[in-house]
Amino acid sequence: MSVYGGIEAGGTKFVCALGTGPDDLREELRFPTTAPEECIGKSVAFFREAAAKHGGLAAVGIASFGPLDPAPASPTFGHITTTPKPGWAHTDLAGPIARALGVPVGFDTDVNGAALGEFRWGAAQGMDTFVYITVGTGIGGGAMVNGGLVHGLMHPEMGHVFPPHDRTEDPFEGLCPYHRDCLEGLASGPAIERRWGARAETLSPEHPAWDLEAKYLAHGIVPQIYILSPQRVILGGGVMDQAHLFPKVRRHVGEILNGYIQARVLLEDLDSYIVPPGLGNRAGVLGAVALAQRAAGAD
Ligand code: ADP
Ligand code: ZN
Repeated sequence: MSVYGGIEAGGTKFVCALGTGPDDLREELRFPTTAPEECIGKSVAFFREAAAKHGGLAAVGIASFGPLDPAPASPTFGHITTTPKPGWAHTDLAGPIARALGVPVGFDTDVNGAALGEFRWGAAQGMDTFVYITVGTGIGGGAMVNGGLVHGLMHPEMGHVFPPHDRTEDPFEGLCPYHRDCLEGLASGPAIERRWGARAETLSPEHPAWDLEAKYLAHGIVPQIYILSPQRVILGGGVMDQAHLFPKVRRHVGEILNGYIQARVLLEDLDSYIVPPGLGNRAGVLGAVALAQRAAGAD
């Protein structure tokens, strides 16, 4: 039986894993995101060694931070494109890995990957239209619509919509280098830290940061509900480790929708509509494994 490689390529860390699914992850390696050549080298060495032990590698999937080019027909397929991350702009990530390992490589955004993982094994099983949003160092969203991951022109950038920003209530100007007070600029982990002068994970659940955070997130989620009509919204990322945020986000979403969409789940059961990832913090790397299976034509 063949095994698959998954790479969760994050802005702060890489996670490489070898396996076939959540109950069968056989090897794993984590390391900090340094220069591209070093990260690519470590990943290739890991898969060579791990695959030799476990009967051969069928394909690799890469679920990466972006922006990136996920279009297989494009000359820059597999590249990270305009990231502000030092050393990483216009980096070919998929190409060198595919050439070094000699296997098909699937490549998509971290959030599209996580969405695919949640579809196969997690909180979106049996659904064909849903959204996966991560709230961490940045805010990003992936979507499956009618059974296909959304790419279109490039890939969705759900973190850069504009929630209403009342500067009397919240004078913080926002930190997105492109838009300042877009959703990511106001509600990412670093935005929370900059506004309150303390890392998000150190703020108590009673801190006023969280109701403001929930309101901004709700204003980011509601447009996705109106536009894509998702059957479920999955919220992951480090900031969402604050479990008390979920009821707050649901309440604000309910208030903003104000009963307009007459779907039972929105009117009566937001607890099962806005949920954490079924795969927990393994959604990213398992999503990458799912991308590998798809690249191998095995799903
Ligand atoms: P990345 O986005 O780099 O993949 P994370 O999703 O862990 O990684 O996001 C990191 C951000 O999330 C940081 O800004 C950090 O302060 C915040 N964060 C991490 N863990 C928690 C937590 N338990 N509660 C609140 N915020 C957290
Ligand atoms: Zn922005």
